[in-house]
Amino acid sequence: MENLPPFELHRPEAAAEAIRLRAGIGGARYLAGGTDMIVNVRRGIENPTALIDLTAIEELGRINEEDGGVRVGALVRLDDLASHPAIAAGYQAVAEAAASVAGPTHRRYGTVGGNLCLDTRCIYYNQSQWWRESNDFCLKHLGDVCHVAPGGKRCFAAFSGDVAPAMLVHGAEAELAGPDGSRTIPLSELYRDDGMDHLALGDGELLISVFLPRPASGAQSGYEKSRIRGSIDFPLAGVAVLLAAEQGQVSDLRIALTGVNPLPKIVSGTDAFVGAPCDAEALDRIRDLVRTQAKPMKTTTVKPWYRRRVIGALARRLAARLA
Ligand SMILES: Cc1cc2nc3c(=O)[nH]c(=O)nc-3n(C[C@H](O)[C@H](O)[C@H](O)COP(=O)(O)OP(=O)(O)OC[C@H]3O[C@@H](n4cnc5c(N)ncnc54)[C@H](O)[C@@H]3O)c2cc1C
Ligand code: SF4
Repeated sequence: MENLPPFELHRPEAAAEAIRLRAGIGGARYLAGGTDMIVNVRRGIENPTALIDLTAIEELGRINEEDGGVRVGALVRLDDLASHPAIAAGYQAVAEAAASVAGPTHRRYGTVGGNLCLDTRCIYYNQSQWWRESNDFCLKHLGDVCHVAPGGKRCFAAFSGDVAPAMLVHGAEAELAGPDGSRTIPLSELYRDDGMDHLALGDGELLISVFLPRPASGAQSGYEKSRIRGSIDFPLAGVAVLLAAEQGQVSDLRIALTGVNPLPKIVSGTDAFVGAPCDAEALDRIRDLVRTQAKPMKTTTVKPWYRRRVIGALARRLAARLA
C-alpha cells in the first residue's frame, strides 16, 4: 500500500454544505468512516482531488423512531445500529448484519451510508497499484480486459456489503439529496447489476437516511454470512431472510443475497412459498432457488461453485431457524 497522495480535506457541518462543496470541486468524493475509501485511495483505486468528510454532520447521525417505522441516518455507526433497541427488536437481520461487518474497530468507524455505498470487490481490483499495473490493470479501472471473463466487456466485481441485503428484506427506502434536490426511492433501486457502475446515484448525490417500515406482526428476520476469517472478513456469500407465518403457513418470505452478484440481489419467486408450511421440502426448495439466482464469479480466492453451494445452505439454515 502506498502513502496517501495529496488532496484537499473539507469538513462541513451540514448536508447541504457537503453537497455544495462536492458539486463545486471536480474530482471530489464523500468520506464517511473512511474504512473502505482510505484503503482505496492508498491503493490508487480512488484518486480524489478533495475528500468531503461527512462526520461532523450531526443531522445524519441519528436513529429516529417515526410513525410506521425507524429512520436511520447515513452517518450512524455500524456498532450503534447493531445495538440500538428498536433495531435489535424489530429488524434482527439488520442488527445481525451490522454486527457481522469486518472487526470491532471497523464497526466503530464504519457507517451505514459507507456500507450501503461500498464499491464492488474483486481479487484483480482490490490490490495495490503496482500489483494491478503488473497485470495490465483491468476493465474496471485503467485496463482493457476483464481477467475474470476475458472475452467480454462486463465487470462482475461483487457487491459485498453486509447491511444492504438485510435492509432490502425489510423493504427499506433510501432518502437521497443532491445538487438538483431530494428524492426517496426503494433501496433496491439504488443498485444496478454492473460491477463497474453499481450505484444509481446522480452526480454528487448523497445518501441522507434509510427508512425501515415496521414489519408485519409475527415477521422474523436474520442474516448469515460465510467468510474466510470469522473475526474480520467480507462475505464470500451472505444471505438475509425475512419470514412471517400464520397458523403454520408462510404469509411472507423475502430473501436477499450479498457477495455473489454485482448488486445486493433480491431473490425472486419467493411468493410461491406463501400459503404452505415451511417444512423440510420447502426448505430444500428455498436452498435450490437461492443457488439458481446467486451468480458468483472468480472474484475471490474461493471458487464460485463453493460460494454457490454455501449460499444455498446458509439460506436453508436461516429459513429453518426463523421457521
Ligand atoms: C479489513 C476490512 C474488512 C472489512 N470487512 C467488511 C465486511 O465484513 N463487511 C462489509 O460490509 N464491509 C467490510 N469492510 C468495508 C468497510 O469497513 C465497511 O463496509 C464500512 O461500513 C464502510 O463504511 P465507511 O463509513 O467506512 O465508508 P467510507 O470508506 O467512508 O466510504 C465508502 C464509500 O461510500 C461512499 N459514501 C459514504 N457515505 C456516503 C453517503 N452518505 N452518501 C453517498 N456516498 C457515501 C464513499 O464516497 C465511498 O465511496 C471491510 C474493510 C476492511 C478494511
Ligand atoms: S470482474 Fe473483471 S473487470 Fe471487474 S474488477 Fe474483476 S477483473 Fe476487473
